[in-house]
Amino acid sequence: MSETRKEFFSRLAREHYTILVPDMCPIQFHLLAKVVELDGYKLKVISPLGREAKDCGLSFVHNDSCYPVVILAGTFINELRSGNYDLNKTAVLITQTGGGCRASNYLSLFKKAFAKEYPNVPIISFNFSGLEKSRSLPLTLSRARMMFAGLCYGDMLMNLVLQSEPYHSKEAVDAALNDCLAYLDAQIGKRSFLKRKKNYAYIVSRFKDLTPPAKRKPLVGIVGEIYVKYSPYANNHLADFLVKEGCEVVYPSLMEFAQYFIYNSLEDHRRYGKNKKSYLIWKLAFNYTFRICKEAEDALKGTGFRPYEDFHDVIEAGKKVISTGVKMGEGWLIPAEMVEFTSKDVKNIVVVQPFGCLPNHIVGKGMIRPVKELNPEANIVPIDFDASSTSVNQENRLKLMLANLN
Ligand code: SF4
Repeated sequence: MSETRKEFFSRLAREHYTILVPDMCPIQFHLLAKVVELDGYKLKVISPLGREAKDCGLSFVHNDSCYPVVILAGTFINELRSGNYDLNKTAVLITQTGGGCRASNYLSLFKKAFAKEYPNVPIISFNFSGLEKSRSLPLTLSRARMMFAGLCYGDMLMNLVLQSEPYHSKEAVDAALNDCLAYLDAQIGKRSFLKRKKNYAYIVSRFKDLTPPAKRKPLVGIVGEIYVKYSPYANNHLADFLVKEGCEVVYPSLMEFAQYFIYNSLEDHRRYGKNKKSYLIWKLAFNYTFRICKEAEDALKGTGFRPYEDFHDVIEAGKKVISTGVKMGEGWLIPAEMVEFTSKDVKNIVVVQPFGCLPNHIVGKGMIRPVKELNPEANIVPIDFDASSTSVNQENRLKLMLANLN
């Protein structure tokens, strides 16, 4: 008889399995991984280098599939091949958002890719959509609160790093980031980790000497498909390139994507009567995210650092150009972020477009014109990413956008 979910995860914890996680958002994932480790597993956030993981992905996944699945499969298999792991005590973890997009089917694709070489390596899902019930990572309320706190701190750190690195030395920024991570790591699992105001205050004070000047470099927002948008490996270190070219990079928070996901669950209820049982939980979670985001915003008041956009404003911005019923892939969130950025001070935008991603070509590249009609100053460039393209092509297109910076 196959193991139940409880038996399966108890075994993984008891046997101290190593769980591999791709480094989509390196700072946030570092903290989230530490929270998951409280249950006895060992998490390893993988940061591939060079072309190997991309080539490996292409040999396992059909090249008509979307770029994120090619790169994720390649990242895992390349890592498993490294010989650094006991393959009887190693698992991989992927996130699934649910919905109709291909991301919901990554897991079955990985199962096929692993079947021949790695039949003993379990594939674990992290999702809130009731997918893969027997293999989805269990989450208690207390762990969920810790994860939300980790996400908030990670977002705040990413924001401060992005705002300080164009104006200060890499050594100074890295030192502040590492001090903050060490400070937070030491509190994971303790009640003090949930004392957000105190922890925000520490982070802000550690970055005090790295405040950006009043006169900023040109701001360039990055929006698009979530994995390629954030992962430095997937986007050929796009943020580093833009900083080197004299820009300040602005990313939406990862929390914003979580809020988008929760908002869509509420919309499904409003439009189609779905999620009747879970509606109240989603509603409470939605309000909770605003409360904790507001604390982060308050912590940055008067510091010279810009806070993230308020998600209420992002929703309203999106409604000017698209229906919030459009939620395949990143759906309405991409145009909403473009409108919100360009109506404020972020007039330059890169839209990352993974090869093979139909939703993002419609809601990303396809929505540039309506966004520009609303904000004619907007300087937006869509950039395609695929496993065989080189960064040179992308950089040439980026330079066209950089020649017209606002
Ligand atoms: S949003 Fe695009 S890249 Fe992501 S799973 Fe869907 S098709 Fe693939």
